[in-house]
Amino acid sequence: MNLEFTPEEQAFREEVRAFIAENYPKHLADFGMREDMSREDMLAWHKILGKKGWSVPAWPVEYGGTGWSATQRYIWSEENARANTIMPLPFGVSMVGPVIYTFGSEEQKARHLPGIRSGDVWWCQGYSEPGAGSDLANLKTSAVRDGDHYIVNGQKTWTTLAQHADWGFFLVRTDPDAKPQEGISFLLIDMKSPGVEVKPIKLLDGSYEVNETWLTDVRVPVENLVGQENKGWTYAKFLLAHERSGIAGVARSKRGIARLREIAAKETAYGQPLIKDFDFARKVSQLEIDLAALEITELRTLAGEQAGKGPGPESSILKIKGTEIQQRLTELTLEAVGVYGAPFNGGIANDNTNEHPVGPDYAQHAAGTYFNMRKTSIYGGSNEIQRNIIAKMILGL
Ligand SMILES: Cc1cc2nc3c(=O)[nH]c(=O)nc-3n(C[C@H](O)[C@H](O)[C@H](O)COP(=O)(O)OP(=O)(O)OC[C@H]3O[C@@H](n4cnc5c(N)ncnc54)[C@H](O)[C@@H]3O)c2cc1C
Repeated sequence: MNLEFTPEEQAFREEVRAFIAENYPKHLADFGMREDMSREDMLAWHKILGKKGWSVPAWPVEYGGTGWSATQRYIWSEENARANTIMPLPFGVSMVGPVIYTFGSEEQKARHLPGIRSGDVWWCQGYSEPGAGSDLANLKTSAVRDGDHYIVNGQKTWTTLAQHADWGFFLVRTDPDAKPQEGISFLLIDMKSPGVEVKPIKLLDGSYEVNETWLTDVRVPVENLVGQENKGWTYAKFLLAHERSGIAGVARSKRGIARLREIAAKETAYGQPLIKDFDFARKVSQLEIDLAALEITELRTLAGEQAGKGPGPESSILKIKGTEIQQRLTELTLEAVGVYGAPFNGGIANDNTNEHPVGPDYAQHAAGTYFNMRKTSIYGGSNEIQRNIIAKMILGL
């Protein structure tokens, strides 16, 4: 693909930049950790984009997509990263939405796609269980047919932001006697259904981001089954490939490195700016080089998608490299803020409040973000599992 931007693409960039400047909610301009935000704030930009018709750029035009080229979509994510916007959550837009428009019934499309586009309906992902993470096909949550309903029983875990969710997409076992991958179905469950219970898991950084989700005799209408019964594994894998490529976060890391350079260029209390330290400067430059290489890989994947090739095993490469870079970035940022990283104001202070910030503004979220980003090499399928996928699907080992 051509990496030069055409005059039309430059004009598109300006249009996007102006739209963000005029419409992005001012009170959300410099957020730190979004996990502690209200539902309303997390959905604010999504709803504005929904009205503009820009909330689901990657979807086919017939379902509300923008029809943008790969380069336009790339510009779109760059401009949002530049402005540090709170983007629409992935659960509806890039996970269950594509599953519904690809495998769902006409009724499911009509019922669920509009709410995902507009940002009115919040979705969560019910895949993992205490005994089924990497070994997802080992999942035990059962769905037993009873007339026009399935009766669902089991426990899911790590359900991100399920405390706000209206709907969830769940993997359930519908045939306990089949091979593990063959007895799984993909169910859409109304989170307000009797028998659904969401319990918080407190994280290391003090935030409330993930949950245990318990399902006890939950009655789910059969019309909420996506595609065919016992074929859920196929839809689950399709969804995971979409989830993984979205995790790469190239544009956000670019912004993060620019910010890291700003922080490291400040005078320190102990002497010269850290960026003048040869070893530190080398680490930042190496990060930039690795990010540039990842960016090209992401552009190639986007161009492939544009040509009709869905994200395949290469999304595992994007996931590994993207998350490693995010983690290195937070490590270097913590190093750059120095002693100001120690009080950890991002959620837990010694007195369990966030009311006594110590140090300059730029240091406030460094420690919290460092801790929080440890998750990225685990979720979406751990990086070790991605390496297994690459070995099998790309290297043919
Ligand atoms: C912050 C966060 C949010 C999440 N959000 C969601 C969500 O919204 N919905 C959802 O369904 N799930 C979610 N998850 C769950 C996530 O997908 C799982 O944690 C992940 O798949 C790993 O599974 P596990 O935790 O059971 O670890 P395990 O599978 O027990 O793995 C433990 C360790 O062993 C390694 N390992 C396991 N098997 C192999 C192997 N075959 N080869 C090499 N190494 C191996 C793993 O890489 C890992 O390091 C979330 C997880 C986190 C941390």
